[in-house]
Amino acid sequence: MSEVRVRFAPSPTGVLHLGGARTALFNYLYAKNQGGKFLLRIEDTDRERSTDESTKAIIDAMKWMGLHHDEEIVFQSKRVDAHLEALNTLIKKNAVYKCYCTAEERNTAREKAEAEGGSYIHRCDCRDATNEKELPFVWRFRMPKEGETVFDDIVQGTIVTQNLEIEDLVVARQDGSPLYNFVVVVDDAFQRVSHVIRGKDHLTNTPKQIQIYKALDLPVPRFAHLPLILGLSKRLRSAGVESYRDQGYLASGLNNYISRLGWSYGDQEIFTFDEIIEKFDLTTVNRSEGSLDLQKMEWVNQQHIQNAEGRLLAKEVVVFLEREGFSVAADDAKLLAAVETMRARAKTLVELARNLKFYFVADDALEYDEKAREKFFTSVALDRLRGMAEALTSVDEWSEENISACINDFIGAQSLKLKDVAQPSRLALVGRAAGPGLWETMVVLGKTSTIARLSLAEAI
Ligand code: GLU
Repeated sequence: MSEVRVRFAPSPTGVLHLGGARTALFNYLYAKNQGGKFLLRIEDTDRERSTDESTKAIIDAMKWMGLHHDEEIVFQSKRVDAHLEALNTLIKKNAVYKCYCTAEERNTAREKAEAEGGSYIHRCDCRDATNEKELPFVWRFRMPKEGETVFDDIVQGTIVTQNLEIEDLVVARQDGSPLYNFVVVVDDAFQRVSHVIRGKDHLTNTPKQIQIYKALDLPVPRFAHLPLILGLSKRLRSAGVESYRDQGYLASGLNNYISRLGWSYGDQEIFTFDEIIEKFDLTTVNRSEGSLDLQKMEWVNQQHIQNAEGRLLAKEVVVFLEREGFSVAADDAKLLAAVETMRARAKTLVELARNLKFYFVADDALEYDEKAREKFFTSVALDRLRGMAEALTSVDEWSEENISACINDFIGAQSLKLKDVAQPSRLALVGRAAGPGLWETMVVLGKTSTIARLSLAEAI
C-alpha cells in the first residue's frame, strides 16, 4: 500500500475548539497507526478573517496536545502561483466559464427556487454563452450534467450524488483569487494527501471536489467524514483547547476524552496516548453524532491524574500552584510526596493545586475552615494537640511507622481512641477536617511543621 499522508487544514479564524481538535487528533492517530505522515496546512486565503493570533493559537494548542506535524507547514496564502496555474489549466480545458450574473440576479433566482419549495442550484446562460462581455465575472466550474459522483467514505459508507444536483460552483474570482473547494483540491494534491479526514459538515463539498480532481487529472484521495459533535452550549462547544488546559486538563486526559467522540474500543474508557494510537481504527469510527459531557470529561481526566507518572504530574501542577501564589520547583521532594497524597481526589490540576496549598503555606498562616474550627477546636482538644506535639518531639526518624507508634502511645496513656484526636489534628495540620491520611500528611509536612501546626492551633 502506498504511504498514508493525512492533513489537518484549519482556517485560522479563531481558536482550536474541540471539534477541530478532534479532527486534528483523528488525522494524527490514523497517520501514526498506519506509519504515515501527519501534515498541517493553514488555510489562510481569506485574508480578512484569518489572523496570525489564530494561527499561533492553533499551532500552540496542537503542540500541547502532542499532535506534532511532519514536514513543513503549508500556508495556503503562499501558494498563489500554484493556484493560478491550476486555474489556467481549468481554463485551457474549458472546465470553467466566466459567469457574469450579479448578486441581485442570483438572489432573485434563489428566492424563486425557494418559493417553489426547492433548493437553489445556480444555473445560468453564461455556461453556454459564446461571446465575452466587458463585465465583472467569476470563474464557475462546468459540472457534468449527467451521471453521478460516487465515493466510498470510510465512515459514512457509499455516497452517491446525481451530478445534476451539484451546482456549477465558483472556483475563483475575476482576479484569480481562488475559493475553498478549488484550492483544497490543488493543495491536497500538492501535499500528496492519501486520506482526507474531516468533519461531516464537509460531506456535501466532496462530490464537487472529486469533479475538480478529475478535471485536473489528479488522483482522488480516500475520504472519511467524522460525525458531528453535539451537546453543551455553543459557547462551551466553541471554547478553545487552551481553555481546557487552563481549567486543569492533562493533555492525555483531553485526548482520551475527545478520541472517544466517535470512536470506541470495546468497553475500554481509559487509554494512554500510545494505546489510542495503537488501537485507533478509522473503519470503526461510527456515524452517529458524539455528545459532549463535562462530567464524563472530568472523570476521564481524573483517571489520568491518578495514573500519571509522579514527576510528570508534579511538573504539570506547579503552573497551577503558581497561580495560587505558591512558587514551588517541579522537582521539590515535598511536592512529589504531597502530590501522591492528594492525586486520587482531584478531577483537574486546578483542584489538585488547591488541595495541595496547605502543604506550602507558612505554618502560622494556615487558614482553618470556620465551621470545623467551632466544632473541633474545643479546649480539651487543643490540650490534646499540644500534648501530641510534645510527644512527637521525641520521634527521631520521621516515618509513618514511628509517628503512628508515638501517637498511639500518647492516646493509650490517656485512655483515648484515635478518633478523639484525628479530626482536630487534621484540622490543625490541613485547615480542613477532611484530608489525606494523618500519618502520611505528617510525613510530607515534616517534623517541624507538624509540631508547629499542632501547637499553633487556636480556637479563635
Ligand atoms: N479549512 C477547512 C475548515 O477549517 C477544512 C478543509 C478540509 O478539511 O477540507 O473547515
